[in-house]
Amino acid sequence: MFYLEVAHLAKRFGDTHVFSDINFDIRQGELVTLLGPSGCGKSTLLRSLAGLVSPDTGHIRVAGEDITHLKPQKRGIGMVFQSYALFPNLTVAGNIAFGLALQKLDKRETERRVAEAVELVGLTGRERHYPAELSGGQRQRVALARALVVQPRILLLDEPLSALDAPIRKRLREQIRQIQQQLNLTTVFVTHDQEEALTLSDRIFVMNKGSIVQADTAEAVYTRPASDFVASFMGSYN
Ligand code: ADP
Ligand code: MG
Repeated sequence: MFYLEVAHLAKRFGDTHVFSDINFDIRQGELVTLLGPSGCGKSTLLRSLAGLVSPDTGHIRVAGEDITHLKPQKRGIGMVFQSYALFPNLTVAGNIAFGLALQKLDKRETERRVAEAVELVGLTGRERHYPAELSGGQRQRVALARALVVQPRILLLDEPLSALDAPIRKRLREQIRQIQQQLNLTTVFVTHDQEEALTLSDRIFVMNKGSIVQADTAEAVYTRPASDFVASFMGSYN
């Protein structure tokens, strides 16, 4: 039984065919990494899942429901981008509550959900701080809390660690994995960083030029690369 199913997905911008036939299935609670070089189509694929890009053909299903043409806010999907995109004039709590703005919750329920999300990402005590008063890692945890506060069915992360320094990146990577497992949250994580993919993922989908060229466990992708491209990209021959 697969939870997120993608079939024959295609997208082009003018003459640029970003991808023409993407197919994959992800199980509930699985963390899958889309790994590939810059420009291979990772963000466009992720944005298609989120409903921020509309695919030309193909289908996206979540728990058996076809969401291909649903509005982004109706999909039950949370998304975090590389840059935090926080509102500078809102506090931590205000930024996270903004994720709930479209849901008609009363004040008490909103506060309860925000407090829960704040605790989940380890920002208790920072609720009244403004983004400018936070480190890069803390800001990205606010962005994560804002994505989680809606209790999404699927979490999409587009290079969420790329703007951070190495030690913070490693810590946040571990926190993301821990939270994802705690919530048993079906997650698609995008990166161009092999080490990130190898340490974080249940499975890795290696992408090149708009195609998934290998979909397997980290161990298999690293030790049994399906092509020269995968081998050299993963550094398997080093
Ligand atoms: P990645 O995230 O793997 O770096 P992207 O999905 O951002 O790759 O981009 C894949 C290709 O699609 C690139 O050639 C990029 O220039 C092109 N592309 C992405 N978004 C647009 C857009 N809105 N309009 C035109 N071309 C785009
Ligand atoms: Mg990208």
